[in-house]
Amino acid sequence: MAIELKGKVVLITGASSGFGEDAARLFAREGASVVLAARRIDRMQAEVERLQDQGAEAMATPVDVTNRADIENMVKSVLENYKKIDILFNNAGFGRLDWLENLSPARDIETQIAVNLTGLIEVTRAVLPHMQERRAGHIINMSSVAGWIGLPMYSIYSATKFGVRGFTDALRREASPLGIQVSGIYPGPAQTEFFMHTGKSQAKHFAPAWTSMTSEYVASQVVKVAKHPRRRTVLPGWAAPAIWLDETFPALADWLIYNAFTKRYREEK
Ligand code: NDP
Repeated sequence: MAIELKGKVVLITGASSGFGEDAARLFAREGASVVLAARRIDRMQAEVERLQDQGAEAMATPVDVTNRADIENMVKSVLENYKKIDILFNNAGFGRLDWLENLSPARDIETQIAVNLTGLIEVTRAVLPHMQERRAGHIINMSSVAGWIGLPMYSIYSATKFGVRGFTDALRREASPLGIQVSGIYPGPAQTEFFMHTGKSQAKHFAPAWTSMTSEYVASQVVKVAKHPRRRTVLPGWAAPAIWLDETFPALADWLIYNAFTKRYREEK
């Protein structure tokens, strides 16, 4: 039976655009109270006003997930306003996609790890005691198909998303005896602002338009997981066989990726 989302409090990081913003809208449509968290407060505030105009319960709170004080303030203000957090959607993240030697250690490498992996862990650590106390809650972590398959130019991004997958699996086994659900979402390419922040690399050629999902579709799958908790959701349909192929026949996967991509773009470099 589906879990009723009406009256639940959902905290969403990375809610100023893309999956996070669409998830906020869809959770609100289910009757949940939604908390939008990210750095661009103006954008979130505008979305909150739209949601409130439609009768939804919503608030925005600024957070940079690399800043521990910001995270603490975010959790404090949600608990002050709504007294509980039922669902945490750990979604904030970005990718700087290029050959490893082109990535800047500070801007591209450290920051990606700080936001996508350490930030997600820190937000979870800040929310978890509250869920443990209530012996209830659901943590939904945004990873990626890149958390299963390592592609050229995705080295650091993949490292963070493999990290999120490991963290998610381990935490699920720690938290489930306490009544807390933990799920991982593993989407392939989707149409969001993600590729506006990846830098000027050819990595976008891995994501031709026909493979891209809409942001709303991915967000709808997150809502579905909240209603029907499950360990892993891999999207879209072709991604699960691709992961299987990579794990079962890694030499064939190397050959395919080299011939379809690496050979051409390494030569163009
Ligand atoms: P967007 O660029 O649209 O959204 C990224 C969100 O993350 C924004 O709301 C941004 O808000 C937030 N964010 C970035 N840095 C920080 C930070 N330091 N602190 C707080 N929030 C931050 O892209 P998507 O919606 O596509 O990305 C959402 C998640 O989905 C990411 O984790 C991404 O890795 C993952 N993903 C995306 C895929 C895709 O093809 N689009 C595929 C698979 C996974 P702000 O800048 O206002 O802080």
